[in-house]
Amino acid sequence: MAWKKYVESQGAQALSAASYEAGAMPINYSGWPLEQPATQYAPLTDDITADVVVIGAGLAGSSVALHLAERGIKVVVLEAQQPSAGASGRNAGHIQPYLASFEPLQAHKDGGRKFTDYFTGNRNIIFDLCSKHGISADVYDNGLIEAAKKPHAELEQKAKLWQSHGYAIDILGADSLKHMLGTDVYNYGLHWREGGQVNPYLFTNGMVNTALTLGAQVYGDSRVLACDKVGTHWRVRTATGSVTAAQVVICTNGHSGNKFFPELQHTQYPLLACGLATRPLPDDLLASINPARVVLSQHPAGLYPLVIDNRNRLITATIPSMGRAQQADQYFAYFLRYLHRTFPVTRHANISMESYWTGMTANSSHHYDKCYPKLYQVANGVHALMNFGSWGNLLGPMMGMSLAHALADGRLDDCVLPIEKPQAVRFPGLFQTKIRRTLIPIARLADRFDLT
Ligand SMILES: Cc1cc2nc3c(=O)[nH]c(=O)nc-3n(C[C@H](O)[C@H](O)[C@H](O)COP(=O)(O)OP(=O)(O)OC[C@H]3O[C@@H](n4cnc5c(N)ncnc54)[C@H](O)[C@@H]3O)c2cc1C
Repeated sequence: MAWKKYVESQGAQALSAASYEAGAMPINYSGWPLEQPATQYAPLTDDITADVVVIGAGLAGSSVALHLAERGIKVVVLEAQQPSAGASGRNAGHIQPYLASFEPLQAHKDGGRKFTDYFTGNRNIIFDLCSKHGISADVYDNGLIEAAKKPHAELEQKAKLWQSHGYAIDILGADSLKHMLGTDVYNYGLHWREGGQVNPYLFTNGMVNTALTLGAQVYGDSRVLACDKVGTHWRVRTATGSVTAAQVVICTNGHSGNKFFPELQHTQYPLLACGLATRPLPDDLLASINPARVVLSQHPAGLYPLVIDNRNRLITATIPSMGRAQQADQYFAYFLRYLHRTFPVTRHANISMESYWTGMTANSSHHYDKCYPKLYQVANGVHALMNFGSWGNLLGPMMGMSLAHALADGRLDDCVLPIEKPQAVRFPGLFQTKIRRTLIPIARLADRFDLT
């Protein structure tokens, strides 16, 4: 059944093409929240005070709140919708324990040493937080495989580089890949024994619940409308209440549509991504698809990343072509074609789509490899932690922790991200146009004609 008809048959409202393009459809369209709707938080209806107010409860804001509350700081979280309603509840679930490139770190005062040490030292933060606080988020430390059809020097160099940082990485040949993935399509690959997958919706909500039990106050349906200076403090206003605090931390991702500190909206290159989940597959079929249950991505183009969740669903993500984000059936057809070619057993199986959704990423560079998160000082006492690109699962909680500890200690310079002034990027549409109009269509063509 075509996706639009299916959505309607489920009693859900068929959405406009514009809401797919904006990546802002209701969060229940995402495949992650289906089974366990999370706690709903009531709106702020009073004028209250706090030490710190955090705006936005995605992966970044939730971590800031949790780690501040853990240090005994009085923190209030204001979320426009409900926690995890932004990009965090609609991502692909990969925990990549490495960075795309070290190059942007050279701009740091110490050449990025502090950042790299912090990153490698805390690369297990998701697993650690889940076990420390009993967060149930379907996390698996099952590792990742980057699989290729032929040897690639850049993969070998990458393995050597990260091995020198103490990472466990194996370079695999065709036999090992066949054993682990159940396909003979790949002949070369890296097996990262660390990292893995997470249900990002449950994880973000788990961090928020933990912050609450540690003393934080959390308000949902509380969009911040204004942020005014009152003496040495800030008064952060919603439609029905306000929080006055000495420190404000803004974690609103692309800051889209916000009238307070609008300069933050221009600091990034937006890029739309989409995700889809199949209906649960039978165990006997799954025994032949990625039996090692690692997170799988393809090199060089990574068009069909694959995660298998605890409901036996296949979950993938891609970048939709420009102006065609609503074409769920098309992206599902591409994915099916990949499955049929890679795992022939799927050709005769009944695999259908359960969910399709889109979400917006905020990127600090128009070069994918240079998209690092940013910490901006917007005004005295007001900081913004944002622009996580497609690395938010690990970097959101990690940078959130670093900022929270720096704030709690009153030593902002200790945060591993340098503090910058918000700066408008030139040609913000460039990245999206380049990727969605050109690079992805070319990669799909190359893949179709087996040119990778
Ligand atoms: C399809 C897709 C696949 C992805 N795959 C991966 C992946 O596999 N691995 C990975 O690491 N990353 C991935 N990402 C990226 C990752 O999801 C993001 O980097 C991350 O979620 C960003 O977290 P955040 O907290 O900065 O933003 P968000 O999660 O967007 O949170 C911002 C929050 O701020 C709130 N807000 C905005 N304005 C206001 C206001 N005025 N008042 C109050 N609240 C406000 C919003 O409602 C929202 O909840 C993917 C993203 C997408 C879209």
